[in-house]
Amino acid sequence: MLNTVSHDKSVLRDKDSVERMYINGEWIVSTSSKESEVINPANNEVIGRVTQGTAEEVDAAVKSAKEAFYKKGWKTTYARARADYLLKIASKLEERKEEIAMLETLNNGKIFSDSLVDVEDAINQFQYYAGLATKPHGQTYEVPDEIQAMVIREPIGVVAIIVPWNYPLVMAAQKMSAALAAGCTVVVKPSTQTPLTLIRLFEIIDEVGLPNGVANLVLGSGSMVGNELINHPDVEKISFTGGTATGKQIMKDAANTLKKIGLELGGKSPNIVFADADFETAVDYALLGIFAGQGQVCSAGSRLLLEKSIYDKFVPELVSRAKKIKIGPGWDETTEMGPLISKSHLENVLNYVEIGKGEGAELLCGGRQITEGELEKGNFVEPTIFTNTTPDMRIVQEEIFGPVLVIQVFETEEEAIELANGTDFGLAAAVFTNDGAKAQRVIRQLQAGITWINTYHPTFNEAPWSGYKQSGIGGDLGTYGFEEYLYKKQVNIALEVKPSGFYKG
Ligand code: NAD
Repeated sequence: MLNTVSHDKSVLRDKDSVERMYINGEWIVSTSSKESEVINPANNEVIGRVTQGTAEEVDAAVKSAKEAFYKKGWKTTYARARADYLLKIASKLEERKEEIAMLETLNNGKIFSDSLVDVEDAINQFQYYAGLATKPHGQTYEVPDEIQAMVIREPIGVVAIIVPWNYPLVMAAQKMSAALAAGCTVVVKPSTQTPLTLIRLFEIIDEVGLPNGVANLVLGSGSMVGNELINHPDVEKISFTGGTATGKQIMKDAANTLKKIGLELGGKSPNIVFADADFETAVDYALLGIFAGQGQVCSAGSRLLLEKSIYDKFVPELVSRAKKIKIGPGWDETTEMGPLISKSHLENVLNYVEIGKGEGAELLCGGRQITEGELEKGNFVEPTIFTNTTPDMRIVQEEIFGPVLVIQVFETEEEAIELANGTDFGLAAAVFTNDGAKAQRVIRQLQAGITWINTYHPTFNEAPWSGYKQSGIGGDLGTYGFEEYLYKKQVNIALEVKPSGFYKG
């Protein structure tokens, strides 16, 4: 059992010391002297102070990554040696698993058991890509004209990795592990709201002796530090996870230097429940789909598509169980739902509740901040469910990124598919039914990159993660995610060395 109070104290650093960036193997405080405060969203207390980098420091980080790639030879380091570093990082993360998970809970607000899963995922990502590091292999092609054609794979170069606040460690780990295994070097930028666990990961990187410049950590805002990375001429690839609006801006900016881009963006994912679904299972996953992580999950099942004939039985059960969800700080092991990341995000979510009411949707439960007792200090919002919605409502179309579920009702399979595909997003989708053929038929027509049948949320590092439509470009994870960091070079070898004889003079 966790002794929560001592865990809190032991994982946090002295509030008066400023957390630093890691550039070319050195821990540095920015020359800007600017700092940002890190807040615990469960009580809005300051839990850390973080230096804020300058354009010159971003440039130094990119230059050191470039030098490590080309001059110091990370690119050509034997893949087994790269794999060894990744395995050492994984085992050090394992040793510090509980500490880092508790820190994630204090910084992000997610419940401790979810934070532990995140750290375990990150460990597995370093292990998985350590395994893949030695596996790239080329192909040869049978072509005419006495040529042997072949393809070899080469690491792309310096990769800028920019990640959001909802999975601060694991989003960075999945990109870093794949990029480093492929032979790229990286400059990583976390969200200013949640930098703490990544700083610990870089302590581990320092301890295992990864060569200087191979992995760098820069700290600061998206508009400054992030923007400098996007526009830096020596960054070859951007691997970004975050909001769709930011992704669009990055795509525009990256066009100037035609960088390779990977964008993992937002969602408004449909969870379709047919009348023949197992009732208990479908209610359970409808709740988990939206309320896990307080709804601050890109793939959250934020739209429940219900077949009309089960509406009257399903909705009262759903609402009654949503009302019983135990809300509290993530470090309390009885908590089922934690706080939202910040006061301003809480305002955004509550604003969407007002928009929904104004649009004429019916609020079935929740919709308010919790202001009783200790929870008043934090950013806690009740589980919220809207019904009587129409497809054009903003609460149906836009990503709210909080514990807000909207119900849409359908009568036929065709209608379910049309409603499901009726937003600009295409990240995830689920189908609940006991009819196997119907499940397969519907899944094949859904515009979504991550799908489930009779479950919601489980995903694995082995399988690719990518969005359709405005939910992204490219993808992370699995062998597909690894290939994102490798150029494919065509090599054509003459089987006989002789002039072409074309220009006869
Ligand atoms: P955000 O887009 O505001 O920020 C993400 C990161 O980009 C942060 O580090 C931020 O500082 C940086 N950034 C912001 N503006 C930038 C700019 N102009 N140039 C460069 N960098 C910039 O997103 P957020 O609020 O931190 O995260 C929530 C969003 O992330 C949601 O939309 C969610 O769906 C999405 N998300 C998607 C996935 C996925 O796999 N598809 C996973 C997690 C989160």
